[in-house]
Amino acid sequence: MKTIIEPFRIKSVEPIYFNTKEERTKILKKAHYNPFLIDSNDVLIDLLTDSGTNAMSSRQWAGMMNGDESYAGSPSYYRFKDAVQNITGMEFIIPTHQGRASEKILFSLVGGKGKYFISNTLFDTTRANIEFSGAEGIDLVCEEGKHPAVPAPFKGNMDTVVLKKVIKEKGAENIPMVIITITNNSGGGQPVSMKNIREVSKICKQHKIPLFIDCCRFAENAYFIKLREKGYGKKQVIDIAREMFTYADGATMSAKKDAIANIGGFLALRSKLLAQEARNLLIITEGFPTYGGLAGRDLEAIAIGLEEVVDESYLQYRIRSIEYLTEKLHNAGVPVMRPAGGHAVYLDAKEFLKHIPVDQYPGQAMCCALYEEGGIRAVEIGSLMFGKYDEKGKLIPSKLELVRLAIPRRVYTQSHIDYVAEVIIEVFKNRKKYKGLVITEEAKLFDTLRQN
Ligand SMILES: *Cc1c(COP(=O)(O)O)cnc(C)c1O
Repeated sequence: MKTIIEPFRIKSVEPIYFNTKEERTKILKKAHYNPFLIDSNDVLIDLLTDSGTNAMSSRQWAGMMNGDESYAGSPSYYRFKDAVQNITGMEFIIPTHQGRASEKILFSLVGGKGKYFISNTLFDTTRANIEFSGAEGIDLVCEEGKHPAVPAPFKGNMDTVVLKKVIKEKGAENIPMVIITITNNSGGGQPVSMKNIREVSKICKQHKIPLFIDCCRFAENAYFIKLREKGYGKKQVIDIAREMFTYADGATMSAKKDAIANIGGFLALRSKLLAQEARNLLIITEGFPTYGGLAGRDLEAIAIGLEEVVDESYLQYRIRSIEYLTEKLHNAGVPVMRPAGGHAVYLDAKEFLKHIPVDQYPGQAMCCALYEEGGIRAVEIGSLMFGKYDEKGKLIPSKLELVRLAIPRRVYTQSHIDYVAEVIIEVFKNRKKYKGLVITEEAKLFDTLRQN
């Protein structure tokens, strides 16, 4: 098979500012060894997140010029609504400025003390919004999803056996909804199978519990189903995506992911009553229902991005570029989560920096090393992000110590990715020389939001 090339040409470029290792050592120290405090101009390859960092197409930029900025009833809203309906098949489409705004509205309405929200894995802002309402979030990812080195096709699946048990324990009346996150961001960007969505939906229906999809990466998930699930190989990605949504009663979305936009989100609902209540909250938090915290031009960019993201040559390149980096690292002996997820490569920092104990944050030490050696910015997803303290102030570590390299959509080329692999492999060869870190000062915030 020939090289899978980037399915685009480049019309507009942004410079990368090069700096030396000596300069980066100083920058890192000044940032208190926290990559979030580094200026982006000081970063060579920025893999902090795939959220809002997408490169828009010439069509999307042209769409921006066509944006109609009318306060009410803008044609840009109708284009946006049609694009979302075309995929989700849901009647009520509520624009928000980003995913967490949709979550805030949704959980303000259906959350509250004594309620439980069950998920494969709740994303951190989703969990925080649930907990802020007084409710509790429960993650029930399948067993395969808990082992980074064990390959399996759908490691984002929900454990349906435990789901039934938990519904019995907590009582269906105390569970306002079950939420499937596709792909499972906090669980390594791993996909959920159609079979699993169907089974979860069946269980929900039996207990009259609504099923919602956190659909930030719906296109990546649909493409994985096409590649890996029996019976879907010949189907179009758009049809696979549509089928996923047929099992759901609603969806929350961050357009900063699979709408290939830089800002935006939505709440999609089938219930008229819930939509009316959501719009009331929207007006006091986001804006009028036909723009909801977005400019008309953003609505245009999202509508076009939703069409482009289901293009199969785009998805082939997208998924392959993550797999390519994963394979390169795995072949060099670097401990990496397998198989590759949809939007990011995850390194197992506990294995990588075995000599650093978890209370000295091996993941964060690795992020610092990647920046210092190669100007690469990654994010720790381990005890720094998820760790808690017991009564004595001792760290309760996270289950996994991962470092995430999230790949922005359509931004970096293969040579950028080759460079990233070279830097990681070099850090791996010299891994013994890196030291752990201690926290000297931290803000008091939600436990779930250390790095947001
Ligand atoms: C990014 C993300 C969100 C939150 O969306 P924002 O646009 O960042 O507010 C929610 N769920 C998942 C799975 C995400 O990846």
